[in-house]
Amino acid sequence: MKYISTRGQAPALNFEDVLLAGLASDGGLYVPETLPQFSKEEIASWAGLSYADLAKKIIAPFVADTIPQADLDAIIDETYGVSGGDRVFAHDAVAPLKQLEPNLWLLELFQGPTLAFKDFALQLLGRLLDYVLDKRQERVVIMGATSGDTGSAAIEGCKRCHNVDIFILHPHNRVSDVQRKQMTTIIGDNIHNLAVEGNFDDCQQMVKQSFADQGFLNGRRLVAVNSINWARIMAQIVYYFHAAISLGGPHREVSFSVPTGNFGDIFAGYLARQMGLPVKQLVVATNVNDILHRCISANDYSKQELVHTLSPSMDIMVSSNFERLLFDLYDRDGDATAALMAQLGSDDAALEPARLAKARELFDSYRLDDEGCVQVIAGMFERTEELLDPHTAIGVKAAQVCRRDASTPMVALATAHPVKFPEPVVKAGCESPQLPHHLQDLFEREERFAVLPKDLAKVQAYIAERLS
Ligand SMILES: *Cc1c(COP(=O)(O)O)cnc(C)c1O
Repeated sequence: MKYISTRGQAPALNFEDVLLAGLASDGGLYVPETLPQFSKEEIASWAGLSYADLAKKIIAPFVADTIPQADLDAIIDETYGVSGGDRVFAHDAVAPLKQLEPNLWLLELFQGPTLAFKDFALQLLGRLLDYVLDKRQERVVIMGATSGDTGSAAIEGCKRCHNVDIFILHPHNRVSDVQRKQMTTIIGDNIHNLAVEGNFDDCQQMVKQSFADQGFLNGRRLVAVNSINWARIMAQIVYYFHAAISLGGPHREVSFSVPTGNFGDIFAGYLARQMGLPVKQLVVATNVNDILHRCISANDYSKQELVHTLSPSMDIMVSSNFERLLFDLYDRDGDATAALMAQLGSDDAALEPARLAKARELFDSYRLDDEGCVQVIAGMFERTEELLDPHTAIGVKAAQVCRRDASTPMVALATAHPVKFPEPVVKAGCESPQLPHHLQDLFEREERFAVLPKDLAKVQAYIAERLS
């Protein structure tokens, strides 16, 4: 399969190169040139498959020219298999569904090692990277910035990769204790946590500048693990199929509500539909950093100030993966997409009304502030004793408000375990949630991280020294 850039000017790549590429050279994002198509009969025949076996069916066409099926199957079994002592996901269903209300379901995506859905993509990504780098006899450097969830999932996913040195920047004293400990207690010679004396944007800026000029790495190359990496999106397509088939798909349509930041997760749901899964509706759920909600509900795509909320993993000003949807809405015209991206960020940024109308056939959106989020957590706990994390709570509320049709099953994605974000849970009057079994001793574990000033040259010098 070939992958092309959303801005039309970069060379097409195969899966192996796209895995290592990050941004395309024209500033765009890579997407498959054509999507695999599955018929209703074929999807129906997958009923009853384990998560791992379903993942093999869905992922194979995307990687076929790079990884032989037998090797891919082994990688997927290692990632999503549930037999053996070193399994990655704690629950036998991998992504269990729980019923909240009539026809409203919670898809628990927090059964992985770092208790957030990012494990689904990064556990696979780490193994795919190791496979490809072994074959190429190459060592790479992963550099990423995190406000919490991405960092720990990336480190957990890549810690066994012997061809990777990983440097994760987080804002010093600005991530929660659980989130910091999840990153800094993973000890390994190839793992480096850098606490930068600045905020998340400062960290992200340093990573961006480092990608733009990689001279400080002495010939090694940087690989991106944020959701611009195509492999992350690809991995997430699987759970949309898994949930829908469990609820009667493809004979029955299913809808999804997705707590959304960078639009990576919900874009995977869109792709599932494009590949043949009958998806009726996709609900974009945001906090007050609501550029996507403003765009979908009022065609306002202007940038606004970032606000720090109780759902920090959705605190974004612009959603990078939205460009992948825009590319489709603009009939895969790279020039039109590039022109639109250049215009975005201005005060009157908007889409052509006909393009937006097309998106609205499938997408609805909702925005919830911190106070509303706390109310949802309190209300749901009172009625069902189900404790929601703040991101999930926003998705659940959006599902209730936006659903078009009560007879279609609605699946709200539970993107994190509530223990990662205790503040809103306590504000809701609920008891602080307990760490699950495998993390019981998290607070006693040894931590390792370096505190560095907000100074690009110093950060790069630190990295170069560790690599030599
Ligand atoms: C990353 C994250 C999100 C946002 O996902 P996107 O793919 O960026 O839209 C939502 N909830 C949690 C808990 C996350 O960690």
